[in-house]
Amino acid sequence: MTITIEPAAYDIYMRSIARRPPEEYAVLAGFLDDPFHVTDLRPIPPMTDARGRANAGHAHVQLNADYIGHYLNRELVPFGKYLLGILHTHPLGITRLSGGRAGGGDGDIPSMRGTLERAAKSEPRWQYFLAPIGMYDVDQGKDHLIGNVVCLDHPEPIPASINIVSKIVQPAAIQASSSVTSDVGFPADDLIAHGWRYQERINSILADQSTPRPHREWMANYLDGIRQQDLLARRERLLRSVDRQA
Ligand SMILES: [Zn+2]
Repeated sequence: MTITIEPAAYDIYMRSIARRPPEEYAVLAGFLDDPFHVTDLRPIPPMTDARGRANAGHAHVQLNADYIGHYLNRELVPFGKYLLGILHTHPLGITRLSGGRAGGGDGDIPSMRGTLERAAKSEPRWQYFLAPIGMYDVDQGKDHLIGNVVCLDHPEPIPASINIVSKIVQPAAIQASSSVTSDVGFPADDLIAHGWRYQERINSILADQSTPRPHREWMANYLDGIRQQDLLARRERLLRSVDRQA
């Protein structure tokens, strides 16, 4: 099992809660059709008591359900994304998630299992709670991330490796048409316009959040391939007609 974290998301972690005294936490988010790929990371304040004091210390932090819910509803769901898990920091050396009474809400594992159980009613696709632990070694100036995945089918957390790498596919730029004007002495406007019509279709496919993302990306890449063939064929025809005119 491997958790992939986008470098931009990892950077937010490293510049924020990684360097602060434990315990703090950040929500991990992404697309549920790729539930081990973290695209977004957001540090969230701990729960507060009636007097506004944060319920967090060197060995615990209580999640703030209202903040997480707001982030979920305002910044994730409208973009087709969802919660994937929580990264939280531990004192150096505490490499394991904490246990505790089932349903008690104290301890990492029971609270994560409880979250998955409650979420199952509204979002049954969320099956894997990504639960990396971050530990910062002040003396070495080094951060350690330990990968864990909590899943209702397994009584114990599943160890996972962590990969900081970008998996985001960028839509291909139009290249076939741009070289035409300088190569040959005829206007390439219609070729460029034709390429843009493909791009508009590609953009609307990529933006359609009702379609699972891998499928959108497959369709966009497929259309991009067709566009290239189409533009090259049109370019050939134009070149031949310019030859004939010359
Ligand atoms: Zn913990």
